[in-house]
Order: sequence, then structure tokens, then C-alpha cells
Amino acid sequence: MLFILGTKSYNSNGGEIDNFNCPKCFANTKLNYIVSGRYTFLTFIPLFPVDKEILIFCDHCDEVIQYHQLEENTKNEIKRIKKESILPAPFWTYTGSIALAGALFFGIYSYVNSNNNSKIYLQNPMVGDVYNVKMSNGFYTTYRIDKMSKDSIFVTVNDYQAYLPYETDDIDTPENYTDTKTKYSKQDIANLFNKDEIYSITRKE
Ligand SMILES: [Zn+2]
Repeated sequence: MLFILGTKSYNSNGGEIDNFNCPKCFANTKLNYIVSGRYTFLTFIPLFPVDKEILIFCDHCDEVIQYHQLEENTKNEIKRIKKESILPAPFWTYTGSIALAGALFFGIYSYVNSNNNSKIYLQNPMVGDVYNVKMSNGFYTTYRIDKMSKDSIFVTVNDYQAYLPYETDDIDTPENYTDTKTKYSKQDIANLFNKDEIYSITRKE
């Protein structure tokens, strides 16, 4: 996906200033202006309003006048107008921010939720449960439960390792569990979980 960050205008007020000497057509005429609020957007999704911009043009020749071309007193007038213009930002200019906040909230919620489920899965292990494990070398892998006895859990260790904790989802596929079998006492598993070396447990519903 291509991300485009930019700004667009949302709302505008216009007006005019009398007694303006145009640097382009040299007429003594009126200066027209339009003040707009601007919002940032990310790939067409508005994030939040940022600032105001002012567009000025000659009433006589209709040419756009740059700020630096203005006489000093007109510059001050324009500055004042820009500062004092109140352009209420429409609610939709916050769409992206609200969506991001929602996504963040959902992320935290599902993290907390999966953590809660992990505790339940720890206490009631089932064949097929997957332990997501932080290894001593700093990488991450998974153990899949093959069977349980009264005190022990028999697992197959994933043939692959991941760089990041959430990437273990990608290596958790049946063909990656081959011949590295091992056995843990239930107490060992509980200890690993409490030390966060087993940082979550996945159960395929
Ligand atoms: Zn002009």
C-alpha cells in the first residue's frame, strides 16, 4: 500500500481590503482574500486540522499576489485577518485520528484479551495448543502440544524461528513441526510462562 501524506483545505472565508496598489497591473483597486483551514491526510484519510492558509488576489487583474509583494501595512492587515479568522474544523477532518485511536484501543484490548486466554490455556492444556516462546538467543519460536500425561507435556518444536514476537503466527504452520520432540513438566511450563519465556498461548478454535 502506498502512503501519501498531505494537506488540503476544508473551509473558507473571503473578504476584501480597499486601497490596494497592485504590483502586477498597477491599478489602485481592492485586494480579495480567501482564508482556508487546512487538514492533513494520509492516503485520502483526513487525520486532523493543522493550520490556516490565505490566498490573495487582485480585484482588477485577478492575479494571485504573493505575500512578499504586498506593502507593509497590507502585510500586517493580512496577518491579522489570518490570525483572527475562525474556521471551525468539520468533524470529518478528525476521521483518521479517530480510526487510529480505535485501532490502538482494539490492539490493546485484544492483547489483554489474548493474555487472559493464555492463562486459561496454560491451566487447561489441549493437544494442538501452541506455545509462543522467546528463546535464549533472542529469537522467537513455537512449541505445539502433541500429548499430555499427568505431569508432563510433550511438544514438537517449530523448525523455524522468527525475529519478532508477533511473527510466530507466520511460522505456525503444520509442515514446520517435524522431528524436534521434547518433554516438559507442567511445572516447567508454568515457570516459563511466569518468566514470560512463553509469552502467549494460541489455541485454534
Ligand atoms: Zn492587479
